[in-house]
Amino acid sequence: MNENQAGRVVILGTGGTIAGRATQANDNVGYVAGQVTVGDLVAMVPALATCALDVEQVAQINSKDMVLGVWQSLVRRVAAHLDRPEVAGIVITHGTDTIEETAFLLQSLLMPAKPVVLTCAMRPATALVPDGPQNLSDAVAVALHPHACGVVVVCAGRIHGAMDVSKVHPYRMDPFDSGDAGALGCVEEAQLRMFRPWPPSVSQTTHDAVRMQRLQGAAAWPRVELVFSHAGADGEVVRALLEQASARAGPLRGIVVAGTGNGTVHEDLLVALKEAQARGVHVVVASRCGQGRIVPHAGQPLPDSAGLSPVKARLALALQLLEA
Ligand code: ASP
Repeated sequence: MNENQAGRVVILGTGGTIAGRATQANDNVGYVAGQVTVGDLVAMVPALATCALDVEQVAQINSKDMVLGVWQSLVRRVAAHLDRPEVAGIVITHGTDTIEETAFLLQSLLMPAKPVVLTCAMRPATALVPDGPQNLSDAVAVALHPHACGVVVVCAGRIHGAMDVSKVHPYRMDPFDSGDAGALGCVEEAQLRMFRPWPPSVSQTTHDAVRMQRLQGAAAWPRVELVFSHAGADGEVVRALLEQASARAGPLRGIVVAGTGNGTVHEDLLVALKEAQARGVHVVVASRCGQGRIVPHAGQPLPDSAGLSPVKARLALALQLLEA
C-alpha cells in the first residue's frame, strides 16, 4: 500500500477487542473491549502513515452489546462516506462477536459498489502480540483494491463475504469460517489473492433507500426472537413469549427457530410454533448446524431461512418486518 494508490479510505471505529485494553500484556481474555481510540489504532500501523485516511469514532463498545442506535449511526456514516467520490473504500473496526451481523446488515441494506471492509482482532491492543494492527493493515489493502466491492470481513489474512461469514471459535486468532462457500480470498503482504467473486453490489443511488429510511426512523426493531430446538424442547418458551406483553420490547412479531440438522424441529416445539403462526407471528427455521444449509423438500412444516444462519435469519426477518 502506498500514497500513489488513488482514493481515500475512511476508517470508522466502533470498539471491540481490537480496541481492548488489559492490565497485563499476557492477559488475552480479561481485557476491557472498546478502550483505544480508532486514531490510536491507526497510529499503531506505520504503513498507514502514507495512506490518505479519514478516521472517525462512531462508537466505542464491546460488540456483544450491539444495539439499534449504534447500527443506525454506523449505517448513516457508511452511506454518507460512500457518497463521497474521493472515497475508495471504508474500513470498520469492530468486535468479533457480532461482526457477522453488522456485515450482513450493511450488505443487505447497501450492497455497496465500493468495498466496506470490517476488521477486528482476537487479542487486545495491549497484548504481547496483538493481531489488530496486521488485520487493520490488511483491511486497508482490501479497501484500496481497484476491483473490491460489497461488504466483507477481513481477519487473519482471509477475506470473507458478509452473507457467509460466521464466528466459529471463541479464542483462536482466525475465528471465522465461511462454510461451504469458503473465504473470498486472502491478503498476503498487502496483495490480494481471490478465490471467488466479490459480493454483489449496486450503484449507490439504487441501494435500498426504503429499508434505509425505515431503519433510520425506527425507535426499535420489530421484535424477533431466536429459539433453539433441542432434545426436550417442549415449546413452553414460545408460549411464554406469546403471553408476555412487554411494553418495552413491543409485541412479538417473529421467531427464528434454530432447528436440528436439516431444519427439523422437536414435535412439541413445533406445536407451539404453529400456535404462534396462528396468532400472526412470522416463523422461520434455520439450521443450528454450523455448516451447510437446509435442503428444501416437499412438506416442510415451516419456511426456511434460505441458507442464512440463525442470527442472520433473525436480522433478515426483522428487516422484512420493518418494511411491512
Ligand atoms: N467481545 C468482543 C467484541 O465483540 C470480542 C472481540 O472483539 O473479539 O467486541
